[in-house]
Amino acid sequence: MAKRTKRQQAILRRNLFLGSVSLVLIAAIVLIVWIVASGLGDGDNKGSNSPNPSTPSQTLSTNDTSNDNESKKPIPSTPAPIQIGEFKGDANFTKTILVNNKNPLPANHNYKENIIVFPNEYKWYSQDAVYRKIDADIWPYLKAMIDACRADIGEKEIGIISAWRDYGTQKTLYDAQIKKWKDKGYSQADAEKEAASRVAIPGTSEHHTGLAVDFNSTNQSFENTKAFKWLKENAQDYGFIMRYPSDKMDITGGIIYEPWHWRFVGINIAKEMKELGMCYEEYCGYKGIGEYVY
Ligand SMILES: [Zn+2]
Repeated sequence: MAKRTKRQQAILRRNLFLGSVSLVLIAAIVLIVWIVASGLGDGDNKGSNSPNPSTPSQTLSTNDTSNDNESKKPIPSTPAPIQIGEFKGDANFTKTILVNNKNPLPANHNYKENIIVFPNEYKWYSQDAVYRKIDADIWPYLKAMIDACRADIGEKEIGIISAWRDYGTQKTLYDAQIKKWKDKGYSQADAEKEAASRVAIPGTSEHHTGLAVDFNSTNQSFENTKAFKWLKENAQDYGFIMRYPSDKMDITGGIIYEPWHWRFVGINIAKEMKELGMCYEEYCGYKGIGEYVY
């Protein structure tokens, strides 16, 4: 009996020992998994636990693709969200739709989607009638930019003369341009060519997206204004780019130099484009965004 009891006690001790080792191992594994998981979460500001995330990154077009192609350079790491005056902006928020004469909007495009009316005080002061409509998501960035610009250079130095346009409005502008050149004696084909370099063909205008604005005057002398100088220095901090630079006409689809036309792409992208010295067509090619053609 004593012998069996000792053996049973030995077995019991061995089982207790193995059980304890197992518990310690399981605890260690759980601890390691927890450390690794929480470490990853803390290092990534874009995680789901980020405080007060503002508007999410978004693409508009079915042509758009995300920027997760590993062969492409990552967007620089500006923290998001960032404070722009009273507005908390998200530096990662982007709308990357590419619209030009080779990339028209699809036939079923909803021109009125996400469009709001902006306050009258943001129009160019000397213009009576302005089509005061803009994409709802980018309005806070545009408002912050105009507020900052006005605070720096004066209330009446900058204002919007044109923003969102529907297809019919663009067609009216385009047809008027063709008529103007035909009245000067140009053939239909030549008049259309001249018109298309000044007014985008209906369906191919960035103004259809509500992501583009014209400031003050559609005259190239706008480049001599305080407003233009301010925009050239600061617009990227609000997510805007000058869309039709003078040296990129061959790439932007033959659109003439338009210092007054500014397009929202997002803060990180606008900053990166400025660093790279690329126009939007070049940048889309570089990043593999959309079915770019130029
Ligand atoms: Zn424009």
